[in-house]
Amino acid sequence: MTVPLINIEPLRTILQMERQRNYANTTVLGGLDKYLHRWASDTRTNLNSPELLSRFNDLHLADSNYAGWDMEKRKAWINDVIGWLAQAEKIASTIPEKKGRGATAKTGPKKGRITLDSLARAGGLESPVTRVKGIAAGSASKLAKLGVKTIRDLLYFFPRRHLDYSQRKTIAELEVGEEQTVLATVWEARIARLGPQQGTEVIFGDETGNMRAVWFNQPYLAKNFHTNAQVVLSGKITEFKGNKVFESPEWELVEDKELIHTGRLVPIYPLTSGLYPRQVRNVIKRALDGWVRQLNDFLPEEMKSKFKLMDLSQAIVQTHYPDDYTLKAEARRRLAFDELFLLQLGVLSRKRDWQESQPAYALKISRESMDKFISSLPFSLTGAQQRVLEQILADLQQTKPMSRLLQGEVGSGKTVVAVTALLAAADNGYQAALMAPTEILAAQHFHNICLLLSRVSERNEEQGNLCRFHGIFSHPISFALLTGSLSQKQKSALHEEIESGRVDIVIGTHALIQKAVEFPMLGLVVIDEQHRFGVLQRLALRQKGFNPHILVMSATPIPRTLALTLYGDLDLGVIDELPPGRKEIKTKWLRPEQRAKAYDFLRREIKSGAQAFIICPLIEESESIEAKAAVAEYERLSQEVFPDLKLGLLHGRMPVADKDKVMKSFVDGKLDILVSTPVVEVGIDVPNASVMLIEAADRFGLSQLHQFRGRVGRGDRQSYCLLLAEKPSLVGSERLQAIEKIQDGFVLAEKDLELRGPGEFFGTRQSGLPDLRMARLSDRALLELARNEAIALFKKDAGLTLPEHKLLALEMSRVWQTGGELS
Ligand code: ADP
Ligand code: MG
Repeated sequence: MTVPLINIEPLRTILQMERQRNYANTTVLGGLDKYLHRWASDTRTNLNSPELLSRFNDLHLADSNYAGWDMEKRKAWINDVIGWLAQAEKIASTIPEKKGRGATAKTGPKKGRITLDSLARAGGLESPVTRVKGIAAGSASKLAKLGVKTIRDLLYFFPRRHLDYSQRKTIAELEVGEEQTVLATVWEARIARLGPQQGTEVIFGDETGNMRAVWFNQPYLAKNFHTNAQVVLSGKITEFKGNKVFESPEWELVEDKELIHTGRLVPIYPLTSGLYPRQVRNVIKRALDGWVRQLNDFLPEEMKSKFKLMDLSQAIVQTHYPDDYTLKAEARRRLAFDELFLLQLGVLSRKRDWQESQPAYALKISRESMDKFISSLPFSLTGAQQRVLEQILADLQQTKPMSRLLQGEVGSGKTVVAVTALLAAADNGYQAALMAPTEILAAQHFHNICLLLSRVSERNEEQGNLCRFHGIFSHPISFALLTGSLSQKQKSALHEEIESGRVDIVIGTHALIQKAVEFPMLGLVVIDEQHRFGVLQRLALRQKGFNPHILVMSATPIPRTLALTLYGDLDLGVIDELPPGRKEIKTKWLRPEQRAKAYDFLRREIKSGAQAFIICPLIEESESIEAKAAVAEYERLSQEVFPDLKLGLLHGRMPVADKDKVMKSFVDGKLDILVSTPVVEVGIDVPNASVMLIEAADRFGLSQLHQFRGRVGRGDRQSYCLLLAEKPSLVGSERLQAIEKIQDGFVLAEKDLELRGPGEFFGTRQSGLPDLRMARLSDRALLELARNEAIALFKKDAGLTLPEHKLLALEMSRVWQTGGELS
């Protein structure tokens, strides 16, 4: 009997992922069934245990109908299959491997297939980090905070940078002020009084001389250095009373193992409290030694050799512990290529999906009513607004669904363009939806649109979140505001209105895409501030209507090449002009001791008729702690600092009605200062507000700061943005300097990318897009390459069904959390 060749591990991984995703059939591109049927037909011929074969047939792997089953059935069935896989594994391990000729000679590990006995070692990549020696539950939970849960995560947990300890010198050659490395012999180590505290002092030497190393406050280190031990020390050299000294160097005893803390390019990892650099280096090294060879290289051989891309496992090793700078750069190139290539492939399948699905409603645009609305506005549209509006209206008249990204600097007037499009859809008898990232913003859009419309039409039938206009369009148009915090009763009443088609335009938050809402005639969807919206949510919304036209709006300027990759499924429109008369917003980073001055300044501005925002610090632990802190700050400010002024408070935990009330009073000028948590970040529009004071400004990202700043400078007054920060970190200070100097959102975005990296910048982590950790904005050539290769591969094998693309298909389903919805 031969050892059956079954590809167990990928299937098990997929089923486990499917379980984690609550049996939503989202794990595999194209759905689980297709994958299973392929898998089963490959596998059946290799099953030569009758026992296995009979259960295999019972499980209907070859003709499963997973997509058609309900959750319970899916759950039970996946359990059964996983059980069967375990049985298969066990049976295989009891079958002695035959030596010699015949079939068994071919059963060694083959590309894309894994033998069962190699699986005794495999299966490890998805197992918890605690499998690695040296990671106990405590450190595991700290690693989890950094997003590292499995061994695979650990391998992909990349260092921020490397310290160059690779240049080894003799003691005589050491120079003060430089980072250097020596290999020396320990002569004496002792606990010594160093300044006020005890520390460790070591005397060591080589053939060129002797010197001292000291570690302050770390007396416990002394016991590590035995006389005559060989030690490598890396760090900065200082001078003390004319002698060269190593101050708190990295150290490592030379035993038989590879150096990882000294004497090489040493990785510096992002840490969280309770994790230490040496510890993380150690466990990563162990993970690499034990598991890196299990990574399957999913890129086709041909592609790798053609573009000189490093092997995956080598790239991972060199990323952590590079042998030199060249290999480090090559490793990064390979991993960056992977990210961009996988991203591009996913985007392409999304686009195909979109184009191949049903046609959209082609709208008939009535110029007359559009013009009536536009000429009723309190301002005339800028050239850029007119241009993008024409693009959009042209799109809406096609049967091919619009898929457009509208970019425009904060305050460039995207909303009014979107509103015109919404009205065009409603005018045609279709429903339209506008989604905003926060309830406050949704409410504001609702009120503003109502305000604009009441200038040209008659308003009636008004209830808090529903109003109707007639007199301007072909039929009366009704608007609804739908948010998550309506009462259940209000919600179901509204759902009914929407489902009956009585509501033309719905404005809301994510609540709009929850299952309960069905739009019978959804013609257009506008998504505001798209960087806050995940691809997932976009997809969910698409599935709401037949095939609505979609317009996404973003104030985050994206360089063109990156836009092509990230939003390759969208056409691009740009508003590159601000409404006339906008003044530069004077931005100042204040020192903590200037706080009182800042308050005086606020008071003076308010006395002269302005209004101000005060933004409370971002608190990451929880929204409720953030809300509490905001309440406390509000009380302090109203009682101690501004008892003579009218203050309002806004935070995420308030009931919507209260938020609305506060916002309304602020808009109406009844409040002087709005104290708020970062919920006002996006979109809020109060032209009379001209001072923005941001507390703990160093904690916010640049785009966020730019968004805050964009809340002022919308009227005629000179506006100001004041930034307070207690003890900013290095990066924090860099951000504050940047925002002080730079007004242009595009330049800031580039800077932000530089400081944060593209993954965090685009929020790909939460959005269901694959992570971008290695790719850089400056990788234009690599971006092009990845894009072209993805396009070529997609032409050849869009479903990734060819055998040489099997591993790639698996990798795609891993990085694209939305896999199933993509094809
Ligand atoms: P954003 O693009 O950031 O969403 P908004 O749509 O909120 O910007 O517009 C910012 C402000 O500019 C609003 O008060 C809006 O009424 C005003 N506005 C929009 N277009 C014009 C224009 N062409 N001329 C003058 N003001 C305008
Ligand atoms: Mg906006």
